[in-house]
Amino acid sequence: MNIPLSQPDITEAEIEAVVAVLRSSRLSIGPKQEEFEHLLATDIGVPHAVAVSSGTAGLHLCIRALGIGKEDEVIVPSFAFVSAANAIRYEGATPVFVDIEPATLNMDPARIEEALTPRTRAILAVHTFGCPADMDAILDIARRHRLLVIEDCCEAIGAEYRGQRVGSFGDAAVFAFYPNKQITMGEGGVVVTRNADMARDIRALRNQGRYESDEWYQHKVLGYNYRLSEMSCALGCVQMQRIDDILARREAVALKYHENLRGQKGVIVPPTQLDQKRISWFVYVIRLASGFQQADRDAIVQSLGADGISCGRYFAPIHKQPAYQQFAALRSLPVTESLSTRTVALPFFNRITDSEIEYVCSSLVHLATTASLEQ
Ligand SMILES: *Cc1c(COP(=O)(O)O)cnc(C)c1O
Repeated sequence: MNIPLSQPDITEAEIEAVVAVLRSSRLSIGPKQEEFEHLLATDIGVPHAVAVSSGTAGLHLCIRALGIGKEDEVIVPSFAFVSAANAIRYEGATPVFVDIEPATLNMDPARIEEALTPRTRAILAVHTFGCPADMDAILDIARRHRLLVIEDCCEAIGAEYRGQRVGSFGDAAVFAFYPNKQITMGEGGVVVTRNADMARDIRALRNQGRYESDEWYQHKVLGYNYRLSEMSCALGCVQMQRIDDILARREAVALKYHENLRGQKGVIVPPTQLDQKRISWFVYVIRLASGFQQADRDAIVQSLGADGISCGRYFAPIHKQPAYQQFAALRSLPVTESLSTRTVALPFFNRITDSEIEYVCSSLVHLATTASLEQ
């Protein structure tokens, strides 16, 4: 057995679409980018989508286009992918880390207000593992304190909050398409927004600061090369056309894990249903019971690896990373620090079979039971 943690789902349709681009000789800034942006904007239900080279590039451009910089602080969870906080730092702003809710692993809105200072400019809400953050509470705090809201939807394409796609709530939102995401472009990302001016600025920033009305060598602002190739966009178009099937399949995999692991000793399963929220399954992350230490978790992950089962230890808190020494939380983040030592991401991809899921579950349950007997 050799079961990877994740695997892209590429069919002949994707292969043909990419080959067709290669035969066209239009390899960048072409019709596939436009088509992908249109598909994305329509799916999320916002007027503007701008394709960029990665989710990280998209987050960076949101921070930049919203004028967040030195002296500013941005509220962000520490239990997240490092990219969210990195994007804040690229513009010299300061990430201010906030703790999470134990049930959903999302930023806890009850912890936001105590983290606000006169310098706070924005909340970067991450829909962690595809589970929608509590947007009503976040938007309410933002309104009362005049803060911007950026949604990090890099793990959450297709997730819904109160029947509306995530990515349609904030001032801007970012999706990502690395091969481990629900759908992939190889590499790639997209910024969506209702704000036409912001969309225009982001289009310029991704292309060396050149606005669409400008001549080719005219650069109004300091920009970047955050463009995406037509091959990536063609791949993304086919994946977007298949998104309903992909999300349904991923939900079926999650429910199969749930069925196998619910009620097992030592293993705590994630919620599969939440009021007013539709989860888009990015990964399936269990946590070990509270008696387990980080060393126990790491030993279990290693034993699973020896059995041919690749697991992830999502997430090591950002504020504990060496690159974040100078931002080490001023306030403590007890939930983040306790849960992050016990989470295990199980193999999760569209084509995983029922027997592979059963093998993962029986191995995990065996290891968790043995370890808890030793405690
Ligand atoms: C994947 C991811 C990103 C960044 O996406 P890249 O395309 O890899 O740059 C940002 N935030 C979160 C929460 C992610 O999971």
